[in-house]
Amino acid sequence: MTVRTRFAPSPTGFLHIGGVRTALFNYLFARRNGGEFILRIEDTDRARSTEESIDAIMDGLQWLGLDHDGEPIYQSKRFDIYKEHAEKLIEKGLAYRCWCTPDELQERREAALKAGRAPRYDKRCKAITDGPDKPYAVRFKVPEGKTTFNDLIKGSISIEHEEIEDLVILRSDGTTTYNLCVVVDDATQGITHIIRGDDHINNTPKQILLYRALGYPVPEFAHLPMILGSDKSRLSKRHGATSVTAYRDMGYLPEAVINYLARLGWSCGDQEIFSIAELVEKFTLESVGKSAGVFNPEKLIWLNHHYIKEANIEELKPLFLKHLKELGIDATADERVSTIMQTGQEKAQTMVMMATDALFYFTDTVTYDEKAKKKFLTPEKLTPITMLTERLEALEAFTLEAVEQAFNSVLDECELKLGKLAQPVRVALTGTKISPGIFETITAMGKERTIKRLNNAIATMKETTEKENI
Ligand code: GLU
Repeated sequence: MTVRTRFAPSPTGFLHIGGVRTALFNYLFARRNGGEFILRIEDTDRARSTEESIDAIMDGLQWLGLDHDGEPIYQSKRFDIYKEHAEKLIEKGLAYRCWCTPDELQERREAALKAGRAPRYDKRCKAITDGPDKPYAVRFKVPEGKTTFNDLIKGSISIEHEEIEDLVILRSDGTTTYNLCVVVDDATQGITHIIRGDDHINNTPKQILLYRALGYPVPEFAHLPMILGSDKSRLSKRHGATSVTAYRDMGYLPEAVINYLARLGWSCGDQEIFSIAELVEKFTLESVGKSAGVFNPEKLIWLNHHYIKEANIEELKPLFLKHLKELGIDATADERVSTIMQTGQEKAQTMVMMATDALFYFTDTVTYDEKAKKKFLTPEKLTPITMLTERLEALEAFTLEAVEQAFNSVLDECELKLGKLAQPVRVALTGTKISPGIFETITAMGKERTIKRLNNAIATMKETTEKENI
């Protein structure tokens, strides 16, 4: 038997982090077992489904590398198949027509609630063989008894049928309902394992009854515990971004998001870092935890930091350039980019941070932080900074070693400690007290801009000295 799993999102909004985890587990399970992973767009709700949302789903999955097999399947193109199945159930005497109107149903529901009864359909149309000539819904006849199934994550689950109402499978306006569509699709598309959020666990007994009624084999089910926010309520916007593409926009790497979501509910000893290939090799449903996972943004940042540090600079370059562009800098043709990225790679937690921290390399002028300027661009630094400028200007190869040597020769001659010159130079180059190592910063800045900025600082210092002398 070939394992076949599916991700079946309803395209009614952005691609939620929780949905991505479901997609990931389906993907991993299929790949681990040499099977197939399909994408099914559950767009039967025409009013709420949007093209934008479909694009966001495709875009998000592609970004994360969760490739599906074959073309995506759209439920909206399969209405005839669902109707045929509903008709077949009527023919077999396993479903019946129902003429009750939504208003009548609502009235009865309210009355039942008032009387303290469960507001389930009272099956009054079940016995009607020759009904009125007006539109009707089709209801599935829930048989007597009880359904038990073994959930691959949650264990054995049982439900008494008297708790399930005769569900509508086809509405009077001709539209189909979720439970029928999902069963017809999963059965006819050969899905062997249904891995989805545990918000669908109550639908499973109904779906099992439908499989049996339609004569299809019942697949395996695995319901994933939900993802909670830090306050233990269901993960929502209140807890920060929940759309996966928002993480891309914030400068997260797909490897980090995949690694994070895999570990949110699944474990393999104490190991924290997993490449996608390793996940495919190690993933099993038995190692998925039974309890809900809590979304921890700090851990995601930690993983992102890890993957940025480990990454090959050239591979990160397009991303870095993209984020710089969003900050208003087009550095595509700038030869310094790789060296500049190296100076920020160790520290950057996201690609946006890496780009933001590197902005000073690309601006035409430097804006001094007033406090830093006052503290470090002082008259007694005029001589060493002038000496440094001359020595850097004389360098033929502007390499890290050459820069370091020139810098150290000034320190020696002026009898200064590194920090005494590094901080003023840092302010001269960046406008602030913070930057990566001073030699790295100078080298990455490049000769031309370094000299220009140092000269600018010299002019500023001279101006201050003159003012003080007046
Ligand atoms: N379309 C359903 C949803 O987005 C999923 C259905 C299923 O996995 O069975 O919640």
